[in-house]
Amino acid sequence: MFKTSEQLLDRALKSIPHASQTFSKSLVHYPRGVSPFFIKKGNGSKVWDVDDNEYIDFVNSLAAVTIGYCDSDIDNSVREQMKNGVTFTLPHTLEMEVAEKLIEIIPCAEKVRFAKNGTDATSASIRIARAFTSKEHIAVCGYHGWQDWYIGSTTRDLGVPKGVKELTHKFEYNNLESLEKIFQEQELAAVIMEPMNVDYPKDDFLEKVKQLTHTNNSLLIFDETITGFRYSLGGAQELFNVVPDIATFGKGMANGYPLSAVVGSDKIMRLVEDIFFSGTFGGETLSLAAANSVIDKYKDFQVIDHLNTVGNYLTEGLNQLIDSHNLGEYFSVSGHPSWSFLHFKPQQDYSHYDIQTLFLQEMLKRGMLTLGTHNLSFSHKKTEIDHLLASYEAVLPIIKDNIDNHSLLENLECEVLEPLFKVR
Ligand code: PMP
Repeated sequence: MFKTSEQLLDRALKSIPHASQTFSKSLVHYPRGVSPFFIKKGNGSKVWDVDDNEYIDFVNSLAAVTIGYCDSDIDNSVREQMKNGVTFTLPHTLEMEVAEKLIEIIPCAEKVRFAKNGTDATSASIRIARAFTSKEHIAVCGYHGWQDWYIGSTTRDLGVPKGVKELTHKFEYNNLESLEKIFQEQELAAVIMEPMNVDYPKDDFLEKVKQLTHTNNSLLIFDETITGFRYSLGGAQELFNVVPDIATFGKGMANGYPLSAVVGSDKIMRLVEDIFFSGTFGGETLSLAAANSVIDKYKDFQVIDHLNTVGNYLTEGLNQLIDSHNLGEYFSVSGHPSWSFLHFKPQQDYSHYDIQTLFLQEMLKRGMLTLGTHNLSFSHKKTEIDHLLASYEAVLPIIKDNIDNHSLLENLECEVLEPLFKVR
């Protein structure tokens, strides 16, 4: 089933570490022998691997694809722009056109700067906050990219200077005390957080974080790299009605074309003229043309409503399935309808990675590309969700039975995945 993938993986490993540019797309996440390693093409909600296996994709390029693969409106906008050129010697008017659209839809946005990856945007936001407050320490909650200032706070910190690591402090979501404690000990320039990932904010958590941050003359940054263009057109800040000082966007804003943005109030963003945040490809026009078309599509087709409707159908169906098959001791579901999670509850005899490996083996066999999260796109309709639920109905009882019968490892057709660093 994966013969070509395996051959190409061996070849790629000779020229590319991990055979991938992205940690979460590599063999670190997909067990060898039961997984595809290269995708040939995509269309709508589907992708085909190099062995011509077809999948419904619930990873969607790590949540970057929010409309669907090869959307003709978006791709036509890109093609039109390509006729005139890609990156120029001076700015292009698309930069302000898309900036104006973001300002219109995102509550905290009065000024905008573009970049390519989410990490560019989060790293710029930290530099802006440090310049604005003249303080150096920061508090983080969630995942914020590969740069030293953030990754130094995780276990994957090889190569990060000690002096940089000491400036970053982690706090827990829905645990205000964990942030208060950091504020008691440090002068924080900023609190940067994913406004939500697996759990909903409880007890006005976001509002309380904002108050605490402002009382301490620090800036609140929402990292909306995933929640943006998913929870609401204006992001999680609009859904939860808590407006941060700065917000960062990436992923879904251009349906897979490389674009990210830092947005914030005029007073704060003005400092971007004094700090240094500048890149050759920041104004690259193909991704901006894509974003322009994506934003129009969100409005014209009520994409957010669709993600909510289809997402609720999925989580309700999955919860029902867990109940009706008495699987509650093994699995649970959380998250927002547009970005929901299937969790494996801890088991005595098997690690999370044992279970995850069997899960992937069985889901991939059934043509489902998911790492246990459901990063929905506008191309997922009820039919795709029905396919997913039918696969869950087959696979979840297999996992339960293998746990109960102590036969999980025997039924693996591959090695168990190595433990990974966890960020959420
Ligand atoms: N912040 C969040 C919340 C993310 O999910 C990610 C990417 N997974 C990033 C920042 C970094 O984005 P990128 O990988 O595009 O640099």
